[in-house]
Amino acid sequence: MISKTVVVKIGGGKGIDYELFLQDFANYKNTILVHGGSHELDKISKKLDKPPLILKSDNGSTSRFTDRETMEIFNMVYCGKMNKMIVEKLQKLGVNAIGLSGIDGRIAEGSQNKPFQIIQNGKKKVIRNDMTGKIKTINIDLLNLLLINGYTPVITPPAISDQRTPINVDGDKLSGTIASNIGSKIFVILSNVPGLLKNQADNKSIIKNINVNKIDDYIEKYAMGRMKKKLIGAKEAILNGVSKVIIAGALKQNPLTNALKGEGTIIS
Ligand code: ADP
Repeated sequence: MISKTVVVKIGGGKGIDYELFLQDFANYKNTILVHGGSHELDKISKKLDKPPLILKSDNGSTSRFTDRETMEIFNMVYCGKMNKMIVEKLQKLGVNAIGLSGIDGRIAEGSQNKPFQIIQNGKKKVIRNDMTGKIKTINIDLLNLLLINGYTPVITPPAISDQRTPINVDGDKLSGTIASNIGSKIFVILSNVPGLLKNQADNKSIIKNINVNKIDDYIEKYAMGRMKKKLIGAKEAILNGVSKVIIAGALKQNPLTNALKGEGTIIS
């Protein structure tokens, strides 16, 4: 096992400049990159007249309803456009990147969610056939094989279910599970915000340090929407052996270096 692998998640939110991030990322060896693509997926889904259907659960967290057609569009954007764009840029920067989804070689395996109930317009509704799920195992042997031979894995959802169907999984969760399974000490999550903010309208209201024992308080008090998933992913990664999770901004020059030097929100 390569013990010093750093797992980096680069978000897919609005405003992410991949060129800027990858120029910095390319300077680091023994890394695994996990990426998102939500902004691009929203744009392309609208163009294809298949706007995303966002489901909100009782606890306020949101997820994207994924039927078979949505999964096909998801694959086009995440595994196709986004993944190959990143691999191409890294290859130009001299990094021997290899783009794979969680399905390939069963890198991320899990189970599809059971039918569940939501409240829509005041009425109860049972959601079936949602191709979303939870990751259980990571194919560490395959990732180590690539790392040992000098390849940089560039990984994207979906994962694969025990029934061998694709399942949409959260990118923060995927990257956190890879980080803990591969024995990373540091896991970096970069997105379009500089970290966890006390007040989302004020980029200076950043929370610098969070002790993992107190993280539930921060999730409840400050995190909304997708930020909740980042903190939950961070918590799980730490409880499973990662020493430090850094949630930092991707919009400035050298975002990974800045994060590793101490910018952003550090959870330990
Ligand atoms: P990804 O980079 O994975 O695509 P998102 O853009 O979906 O991530 O998640 C980051 C988003 O979380 C921010 O753009 C912001 O709108 C939202 N958010 C919610 N609560 C907070 C908070 N307290 N501090 C910072 N961002 C927050």
